[in-house]
Parts: sequence; structure tokens; C-alpha cells
Amino acid sequence: MSQPKSRDVYMVIGGNGFLGRHIVQQLLDRGDIVSVFDIVERYTDVPFYAGDISEQESVASALRKSGTTCIIHTASPHATLNNPALFHKVNVEGTKAIIAAAVETGVRKLVFTSSAGVVFNGQDVIDADERVPFPEVPMDAYNETKAKAEVAVLEANGKGGLLTVALRPAGIFGPGDRQAMTGLYQVYERGQTHFQIGDNTNLFDWTYVGNVARAHLLAADKLDTPPPAPPLSALEKMPTSLDD
Ligand code: NAD
Repeated sequence: MSQPKSRDVYMVIGGNGFLGRHIVQQLLDRGDIVSVFDIVERYTDVPFYAGDISEQESVASALRKSGTTCIIHTASPHATLNNPALFHKVNVEGTKAIIAAAVETGVRKLVFTSSAGVVFNGQDVIDADERVPFPEVPMDAYNETKAKAEVAVLEANGKGGLLTVALRPAGIFGPGDRQAMTGLYQVYERGQTHFQIGDNTNLFDWTYVGNVARAHLLAADKLDTPPPAPPLSALEKMPTSLDD
């Protein structure tokens, strides 16, 4: 894998999760310095900072201690939880706290893991790219708060020299997954396999976790040579229905 021009010091927020751990592993594999900020402790091979992203001071303190220059923010409650208040606290307030802590401590780059679900409203989404607007009525609280977080991250681009990018994976599969396969197995265990949704031609995007992790590293590297800012007209098309 190619190296960024200047060596960053990375912090993977949510780095003890499924995707976050693969990102940590790939950073270690290419010889980068990386630490993890998470509410859960699982590994001992990188410096670990315990904390909740909705507490700006915890995040800022960890960023200072670790000397972080690039944050990769993958933290979120599981999409399957039925807890809108938690989604708002972590995804919206937590992401805003990360942005504020990053600006406060002079972090250069922020890569955010959004979700393909931010543009899903139950209808088919075919050949979509980043120009597709958010739906007027979000699919659910998880996707609504991921969209709000994404808007906050993109609006923070340039603030105090911070460069930001958001990625929208669809389904992620691979080693370390605690969500997708568990759900499928539960369906099997409950004997629910005789249901079929649609006419057996439905398609859904799944991406191998190693490839999603690699996309985060490439996005972080690419922030060193940011593309020209989008025209104002494109920014004006950002959703208004997601305002707080
Ligand atoms: P995961 O639950 O395995 O990892 C998330 C990590 O975030 C966990 O380690 C958790 O402890 C941590 N976390 C949660 N709340 C926190 C908080 N308040 N403060 C600090 N840490 C906190 O989930 P994942 O599947 O690895 O997903 C990673 C990211 O990718 C999420 O942002 C998710 O929205 C996004 N995503 C996942 C999928 C998928 O199929 N798994 C698809 C699209 C997008």
C-alpha cells in the first residue's frame, strides 16, 4: 500500500469494533503509529483511551496525549438497536464533540464512517453516487443521525485547518463481524428461513471489511491533496429537513 506524503499519527475512534479493528491492523501493517479511543477495551497491542465520544474533553485529552494528526471515526451504536436517543447522543452530539476536539487540538484530518443508508428510503437505490440527496423522510433514527453526523463532518472541512471526508459503506462482511452473521444465524435458529422478501431478484451491496478498511486509509492519504471545493450550488442542495 502506498504511503502518505507526511506520516500522520492516527487515532481510530471505535477502533475496537469490527471495522475499526481492521483499520487499526492495516495501519500497523504499513508501519503507522495508531491509538484507539473506544468505550470497550478488547486489544492490548496499541495505546488505548477509554471514553465516550459525546464527552469532548475525554476526546480532546486523548488526542493531546497521543499526538494524533488524523482521526478515523468509526464509532456508532449498532444500527439494529431501537434507541433514537442513543443514536442522537453518539452519532450527532458525539461526532460534533469529535470535530470540536479535533479543531481544539489542531488535528489535521478527520475521516468519518457514514453509511449508504443515509440515502435509503425504502425504494430501490441504483447507480447512486454522492449527488443523490438525502430523503425527505429518513429511513429510521440510525440513518437520520448518521446523515446529520455526515453533514457536520463535511461542513467542518477547512475549520481551523481540519480536512474532512465521509465514506458510505453498505453492508460489511468478514472476520470479526458481530452483527450480520449473528442476525442471519438467529433467523436460522428461529426457523424463519421459509420467508422470502421480494421475488428473489433483490440485490444488496456487501463489501469485504478489508476493502472498507483500505478505503479509509486511502481517503485519509488523499486528504493531503484535497480536490477543489464543490460549487456552492452543490452545497446549497444539502438537506434542510435534517437540521436540528
Ligand atoms: P461495531 O459496533 O463493531 O464498532 C463500533 C465501535 O464503536 C465499537 O467498538 C463500540 O464500542 C464503539 N462505540 C460505540 N459507541 C461509542 C461511544 N459513545 N464512544 C466511543 N466508542 C463507541 O460496528 P461496525 O460494524 O464496525 O461499524 C463501524 C462503523 O461503520 C459505524 O459507524 C457504522 O455506522 C458504520 N457502518 C457499518 C456497516 C456494517 O455493515 N457493519 C455498514 C455501514 C456503515
